[in-house]
Amino acid sequence: MTDSVASRLNEVRRTIAESCAAAGRDSGFVTLVAVSKTHGPEAVAEAIAAGQRVFGENRVQEAKAKFPDLRAVHPDLELHLIGPLQTNKVKDAVALFDVIETVDRPKLAEALAAEMAKTGRRPRCLIEVNTGEEPQKAGILPADVAAFVAVCRDVHKLPVTGLMCIPPVDEEPAMHFALLAEMARRNGLAEVSMGMSGDYPTAIRFGATHVRVGTAIFGARPSFTE
Ligand SMILES: *Cc1c(COP(=O)(O)O)cnc(C)c1O
Repeated sequence: MTDSVASRLNEVRRTIAESCAAAGRDSGFVTLVAVSKTHGPEAVAEAIAAGQRVFGENRVQEAKAKFPDLRAVHPDLELHLIGPLQTNKVKDAVALFDVIETVDRPKLAEALAAEMAKTGRRPRCLIEVNTGEEPQKAGILPADVAAFVAVCRDVHKLPVTGLMCIPPVDEEPAMHFALLAEMARRNGLAEVSMGMSGDYPTAIRFGATHVRVGTAIFGARPSFTE
């Protein structure tokens, strides 16, 4: 039983509690987003049975195939989109997700605002920040964050509640986490989504309010899906 979803989930919860205690933070302010991408509904159901309610998916189509049935039984699930969102999927994303963590360009902000106005559904929005300024990576550059947040909030009236980042794989994540938390503070945003299986204790130390953990809960994913 040591490698069941429930036992790994408990292990992650324990690590979160310890990391919070070490940082002098209240663990009630850190939400575990269980990243279930590539794993089937049975794995998600195991996590739900173990008390998990917040899940992250990186593809709209995959989430759409997996979650509506689970939601019908568990209406209190909270679903986060953590992968890139194309404008032609905005309608589905607004219908399905409670939080969209990857708002990363003006065209997308505009499309989200239009869909929210049309449907009245208003998923919370996080701005994805390219803290490492990597050319191939999505996200707003640090220097442009304040202006982009202002456009999203004041022009498009989006419910912007925070920032998210995925640090470069080959760098110490700590400085990226510190930068993201500082930008959130400066822009008056309460939510900071950062930290994955390999580094969520560090992210908590630097102020994460949401950690996105997949592998440590559900096990390894097939590598071709990344
Ligand atoms: C897959 C993914 C995660 C989870 O990664 P693990 O290393 O499996 O914990 C977190 N955030 C994003 C954006 C992801 O795509």
